[in-house]
Amino acid sequence: MAHPSDVINTRQHPFVGVTWPVTGSRGNDYYVRMYDSGFDCSCIAFRKCKHIRSVEDRILGKNIFKKSEKKPLHLRENSV
Ligand SMILES: [Zn+2]
Repeated sequence: MAHPSDVINTRQHPFVGVTWPVTGSRGNDYYVRMYDSGFDCSCIAFRKCKHIRSVEDRILGKNIFKKSEKKPLHLRENSV
């Protein structure tokens, strides 16, 4: 069951259907998916879990992304 987000309006959001991998504190991988009605996570938590929160943070652009990943790659050959 999807958990409605407090911080992101997921209804008709362009990321609906996108799945984000989240590494949990014990090193397990979980998958958080955005639905029209909110987020769902593959972990067993029945409440909105920290994995979902971490994905919300990523979407909102807080911390998480390393700068090297965020920069688009430009091919220098094209600019000559
Ligand atoms: Zn979770």
